[in-house]
Amino acid sequence: MFKRTLWAVLAVGLAFTFAGRPALASEPANLSYHKQDLRVYVDSGEYAQSVASVALSANKYVAKRIARGQAKGEKLAIVFDIDETTLSNLAHILENDYGYVPKVWDGWVAEGRAPAIVPVQIVYDTAVRAKIDVFFITGRREADRRATEKNLREVGYDTWTKIFYKPETDIMLTTAGFKTEVRRKLTKEGYVIIANLGDQDSDLTGGYAERVFKLPNPFYLVK
Ligand SMILES: [Mg+2]
Repeated sequence: MFKRTLWAVLAVGLAFTFAGRPALASEPANLSYHKQDLRVYVDSGEYAQSVASVALSANKYVAKRIARGQAKGEKLAIVFDIDETTLSNLAHILENDYGYVPKVWDGWVAEGRAPAIVPVQIVYDTAVRAKIDVFFITGRREADRRATEKNLREVGYDTWTKIFYKPETDIMLTTAGFKTEVRRKLTKEGYVIIANLGDQDSDLTGGYAERVFKLPNPFYLVK
């Protein structure tokens, strides 16, 4: 009896500890149903539409802001995330049933065959044509550089000022912390970051951008 009570106390305690919030009152919805919803979101075209709508408003804003900034002689820059922002890994995500297996993911990145997210590429093209500085800040690692840059070039992202890869050395560094720090340094160098486009909150929080544009991504979370 004592043992059983102890287990119950432990279970509740663990639920609080691990989730960082109270235990759920009922069994969570089955994962398969959630996967089905994601599939509908993709197959119905809703995901693509949502991406296009965010990119379209970014493009309108960026075009106007560049004209205004260049008239004033400002040192303008734009920041893009890579995965699910400029490149689409949807084929990989669906192939792997929404699972993340590091080795399989690394293999996919090394293949370098992720297609461009075309509506975002239009924003990129606007920035390139206007000759403002384009920065990619990615959670991809230095080891992914060659395949990533080849992939970007092959799908039409053929120029940039710099790509910042997340360092492997600092395991305590969050993606949000890393990305904020890069934007802070760029700002310190005199760049006016007019827009920051990403699919994760961790791409966009922390400031150092006049405007942020959040693309949808219900498939995975990067903190
Ligand atoms: Mg991303």
